This record gives sequence, structure tokens and C-alpha cells, in this order.
Amino acid sequence: MTSAAGPDTVHLVPLDPSGRRRAMLREPAGADEQSVGGTTTADAVRLLDRLLTDDPASAVRPGDAATLTVVERDLLLAAAYRLGWGPRISGVVTCAACAAPFDLDFRLADLADRVRAEAPAGVVTLDDGVTFRLPTAQDEAAVLGLPPDEAERALLARCLISGAPETHGPRVEQAMAGAGIDLDLAATCPECGHGADIRFQIQDYLLATIRCDWATLIHDVHRIAVAYGWSLTEILSLPRGSRRAFVALLDGEPIPRTAERS
Ligand SMILES: [Zn+2]
Repeated sequence: MTSAAGPDTVHLVPLDPSGRRRAMLREPAGADEQSVGGTTTADAVRLLDRLLTDDPASAVRPGDAATLTVVERDLLLAAAYRLGWGPRISGVVTCAACAAPFDLDFRLADLADRVRAEAPAGVVTLDDGVTFRLPTAQDEAAVLGLPPDEAERALLARCLISGAPETHGPRVEQAMAGAGIDLDLAATCPECGHGADIRFQIQDYLLATIRCDWATLIHDVHRIAVAYGWSLTEILSLPRGSRRAFVALLDGEPIPRTAERS
């Protein structure tokens, strides 16, 4: 459904291939952007707890973000990016072989659809009957600070449901490591044809974008405050797309279509 720009900034995000498990997420506002202090999982959880809305149709409410699996968390982070920053990820990559710069550009929704379709829901069963569940932020927090080897073992112990850690551990860890929007994207250099895998992690990408956009946020607040005389709280509560649209108007530029309203 396409809707006119307006107060409709809460979006339904399917968390599994059937769409039965879903969350309601609102578009990030300046206050949400300001609250991001880093790019860790804890930062991602705090941001999602702010953006999740208390809706009966949602399987996840504010305060529940730490219970999401890594796949679900990444799907919500991807949705937050699309709502606030737009549907595409684009950037310039330097070819490792010939050093020529080339453009990388893709639709985040396509990536999210792929990850959602392949996402194991609930308990995962491997072909040899071993069962496990994907780790959540709670699991990650529980092993935080342990030496890497010990943390790996402790995480496995928390998530392995049936099977022996010694025999099945490596396969389960491999399956866990591939979960989420943490992918190697295949790219080919148009200059020399060199193929490369480019690592893309939505959590890093979104949170780093927010941190880098701080100057834009301050500029927007200043521009709107001077022009309209609105309070800081009012301006920081504007959904990002609306805030950017007001600034574009003030600058005599076309209104950007940042939010993917579908
Ligand atoms: Zn090249």
C-alpha cells in the first residue's frame, strides 16, 4: 500500500517467511538518532526498544529487543534504515586488483527478503538430528567479557538443545555465524573483471551511519528552529524523512523521498 506522506510512520515488519511473526516499527526521529552511542549489539537493542511500538499485532514490544534472534534483530535494523534513510545502500568500493573505484548499489529490501526466507525460525534441526536455537542479544550479553574461546563454548551451551558440544559444536557454530544480515556481497570490478566479496553488516552500517549523520541532524535542527521557531523537543520528535523534507523545502530543493512507503 502506498500512503501519502503523513503521520503513517509505523510499519509492519515480517520476522519470518510466513509473516505470522511480525513487529511494528516506527520511523527513527532525531531523538532516536541522538541516543545512539556506539555500534555494539547493546546499542542496536536500545535503538530497537525505542522504535518498537506497543501494538497488539506485534510479537515484539518495546523492551523485548534483547530477546530477538540475530536474524530478527537485523531484519528490524534493515527496516529502520529503509524508513529513515531510504531503500538503497550505495557506496564506492575500491577494486583490490586494479585499485579502480566502482559503485556498489543494492536494494536493502531484496537482501532482507533473502535473509528472511532463509532464516531458521525457532528451533533449528541439522540433518544429523542436532537441534539448536539462534542466539539472542541476551545470550551475547551473558558471555560478554569472557575470553573468546570460553565465550564461544558458553554461547554454544546456551543455544544447543540436543547434541554434544564436542562433536556437533563446530557445525552449529558455523550455522550460527551465517545468520543475520552479515553477508559477503559478490561484486565484480567493471574495469578489470576482478571478483570480490564485500562484507556488509546491517548493524554496523546503520549505527555508523547514524553516528556519521550527527552534523546533519544538528544542521537540520538549527535550520528548522530558525525558520519555524519550533522547540528542540518538537524538532527532535519529527520522523527523519519529514525533518529532511522540511529542510529541503527551506533550501528550495525538491523534497527527497527517503522513506520506502510500501
Ligand atoms: Zn579492478
